[in-house]
Amino acid sequence: SVKTRFAPSPTGLLHAGNLRTALFNALMAWRHDGTFLLRIEDSDTERTDPHALEAIQADLHWLGLHWDEGPGAASPPVQWQQSARAADYSRAVAGLLETGAAYPCFCSAERLAALRDQQRAAGAPIRYDGCCARIDAADARQRQAAGEPAVIRLRLPDGDTVAFEDLVRGHQSFALDALGDPVVQRADGRVSFLLANAIDDALMGVTHVLRGEDHLSNTPRQLVLLNALDLPTPQYGHVGLVVEDDGAPLSKRTGAPGVGELRRAGYLPEAVVNYLARLGNSGPGDGLETLDTLAARFEPERLGRGPARYDAAQLDHWQAEAMATLPEARLLEAVEPAWVPAEKRADFVRLVRANLKTLGDLQDWAERLCAPAPAFTEAATAAVTGADPEFFRAAIQTLETADDMDWAVLRPALESATGCRGGQLMKPLRFALTGLGYGPGLGDVIAFMPADIRRTRLNKAAE
Ligand code: GLU
Repeated sequence: SVKTRFAPSPTGLLHAGNLRTALFNALMAWRHDGTFLLRIEDSDTERTDPHALEAIQADLHWLGLHWDEGPGAASPPVQWQQSARAADYSRAVAGLLETGAAYPCFCSAERLAALRDQQRAAGAPIRYDGCCARIDAADARQRQAAGEPAVIRLRLPDGDTVAFEDLVRGHQSFALDALGDPVVQRADGRVSFLLANAIDDALMGVTHVLRGEDHLSNTPRQLVLLNALDLPTPQYGHVGLVVEDDGAPLSKRTGAPGVGELRRAGYLPEAVVNYLARLGNSGPGDGLETLDTLAARFEPERLGRGPARYDAAQLDHWQAEAMATLPEARLLEAVEPAWVPAEKRADFVRLVRANLKTLGDLQDWAERLCAPAPAFTEAATAAVTGADPEFFRAAIQTLETADDMDWAVLRPALESATGCRGGQLMKPLRFALTGLGYGPGLGDVIAFMPADIRRTRLNKAAE
């Protein structure tokens, strides 16, 4: 049965590209009623960030990408953290050395640097020249036993070609001579990403790997490694990367906001999921979809081979879709009780919902309409201070003496009291009351606002 995984390195917050990879792998597993695994790849890094582990899990849960195996999952108890799996990796390295599929390399940093310079000067590809591959195995063992430092390299057989069917890109074929024998274990004993990642996939029973195109050239190396150990190989699919406007790949340090930021800004997980699901994927339809329907239609062949540009405007489009269909109960939950009294909350939500871009806007409107002393912008203050204080006094008078807040009656009364109509009437009133030049209908705003707050704001404008 199908098993996929998301395998982030805990070196920072996840960006849109990482999360899209997680989403695609989860959808692939769900499509086939399979298993989705979360594995933390911390074997090859000095930059493990303790907060990152927490944040990764929080981000995935928030998006609804719950994993069946991994941190916090009850069963089966897999060792999901690479730093706890050193024994498996040593066994793999020993196995490779035993058959000569890997060899110790004693080349000094200086020699390797000189080799690189030479290759660069000659315009040749930069790769290890196989110098230590020719050392007799018994000699190499002796030198190691004598304490000479060595990395372990995987031997890529001369002249061979590795071919595989990529789930996204179709038939792929790599001449191994072009790759150079990669390091699988450093001199200090730590194993490389290449080895840990492949061994884990094999031992954890991963059947399908969807990952970024930047890993494409790792695949032939990993296939050689797994074949040398007679371990099962997953099917790989390499998706075009998510890039910035300038074409540079997204990075953890710059560019597109992280999920935590989007969540704090009041974006909905439905919006983020629907955006990411379409980023370099032609599979989904036009409308908002649930994770279940996205999974039911997920096909890796529909994923893009070329780069996909991160587009904040598209995210906003899905945010608008998701906000428009969000059940009222979810909006009610999000209203900060401090500003809007319980009995007015439903009215409040109905009043402002068409004006909400994010859940954060809900809070903003609550303050605008109900807070005793909201911080209005300078533009709002300027729009109001430019107006005649008499105008506001007349408006206050009208509102104070009105029998009810029926706009059909109130509006003509305001017009005759102030001598203004249309924008001349609405604009200064709207700015004075809400601090904005747009929003829900002015009559509805006036009817909704608590009388004392309305009075305070108009009095201030009349000063
Ligand atoms: N830890 C790797 C990364 O973050 C995983 C690559 C893979 O999916 O195989 O890029």
